Amino acid sequence: MINVFQPMLGEQELAAVREVFESNWIGRGERTKAFEEGFARHLGVGPRHVTSTNSCTEATFIAMELADVGPGAEVVLPTISFVGAGNAVASRGARPVFCDVDPRTLNPTADHVEAALTPRTRAVVVLHYGGRPGDVARIAELCRERGVLLVEDAAIAVASRVDGRACGTFGDMGVWSFDHGKILVTVDGGMLYVRDPELAARAPKLAYLGMEQVSGYDQALRARTRWWEFELSSFSRRSVTNDVLSAVGLVQLGRLPGFVARRRRIAERYDRGLAGVEGLLCPPPLPPGHESSHYMYWIQLEGGIRDDLARDLYERGIYTTFRYPPLHRVRAYGSDAVLPGADRAADGTLLLPMHQGLTDADVDRVVDAVRECVRARLGRRRSPAPA
Ligand SMILES: *Cc1c(COP(=O)(O)O)cnc(C)c1O
Repeated sequence: MINVFQPMLGEQELAAVREVFESNWIGRGERTKAFEEGFARHLGVGPRHVTSTNSCTEATFIAMELADVGPGAEVVLPTISFVGAGNAVASRGARPVFCDVDPRTLNPTADHVEAALTPRTRAVVVLHYGGRPGDVARIAELCRERGVLLVEDAAIAVASRVDGRACGTFGDMGVWSFDHGKILVTVDGGMLYVRDPELAARAPKLAYLGMEQVSGYDQALRARTRWWEFELSSFSRRSVTNDVLSAVGLVQLGRLPGFVARRRRIAERYDRGLAGVEGLLCPPPLPPGHESSHYMYWIQLEGGIRDDLARDLYERGIYTTFRYPPLHRVRAYGSDAVLPGADRAADGTLLLPMHQGLTDADVDRVVDAVRECVRARLGRRRSPAPA
C-alpha cells in the first residue's frame, strides 16, 4: 500500500534519542530550548516569541485563551479547517463562524473572511491549505484594519513563505504541528508563536500549569525563595513537550529543506503526469513569491466520481483521502451557513499520496492508476447504457 502521508524518521533521530536517554534528562530541558530557538530562527522571529507544546491543538487552545476569546465572541474560520481549531473556539463558549473558501485552492480569500466579520468578531483563524500560503498577507491586513486578532493555523505550512516571510508570522499568533502525519515530525508536538511580547511571556505559563516561576536551585537563590514553592498566574493545563521529542525535532528541522525540496519535485512530477486528463484538474499554479511546504497534492474531479475513484485506487494499493471535511456540516457546531465553494471543493477533491519517502516509481504508479481509473469511470458514464 502506498500511504497518503508518512513520516521519515531514521538512524539520526534514533541516535539523538539515545543521547537523551543516556543523559538521564528526558523531561523538558536544554534540547527543548534548543528546538524552540532553532524553530524561531527558521521562522525569522526572536526566541522569546515561541513556546513549544505537546500538540498543535493545545497550542491553538492556548492561543484562544491569550486572544481572550470567550462567551459572546465570534471567531471566523474557513469551514475547511481542522476540527481542533473549531474545538478551541467552541470550548471557550465562543461561536465559530464558518466562512467559504475558493473551490480551486480551498483557501479563503480576504473577501470570504470579510463577509463573515461582525462587530462581535474577536479573532480570525485561517490555515494554509495543502501548505500553500493563500491570501494570508491580505487577510492579515484586513484583520489589522478591523482590530481583529489573526491566528494562523500553520500546522501544515512549516516551510511556507510569501516573499520570504514565514507563514504563521503574518498575524498575531501562529501554531504548528509536528504530529505523526506532518512533514517535520516529533511523533507528537506543536509550537506557538505570539507577536506581542507581553502575551508571548504568558504563553509558557499557560502551557505549564499557570506556574509563575520555574523551579530550580539557581533561580530560587536569585529570587530568594525556596525552590520547591510556587505561585500561580492561572489555573492552567500541562501542555509541554520533553527533550526526547525535541531531540527528534532538532534532527528533523535540519532535514526539513531536503524534505520540502523532494516534495516539490513530486508535485511537479504529478503536474506533468496528470496534465491533460479529461475531467481532472491539478492544483492551480502558485502565485509569484509564494512558497509551499507541499504538504498535500490534490486533484479535482468532474462527474461526481471522487468517491468511486478513491475506492478504485485503494483496490490498487493506493491510499487517498480528503482533508478537511467542512465543519459547517458537523452537527455539533450547529452552523446553518451556506458555503457553496467549500461544498463543491469537499465533494470533488481527492488527496493523492504525498510524502518525501515516495520514489519516482511510486509517483508514476499513482499517475498511471489515476489516469486509467478516471478514464474508465468517466468513459463508462458517458457511453450510453447497454440495451
Ligand atoms: C494536524 C493538524 C492540526 C493538529 O495538529 P496536532 O498536533 O495533531 O494537534 C491542526 N491543524 C491542521 C491544519 C492540521 O493538519
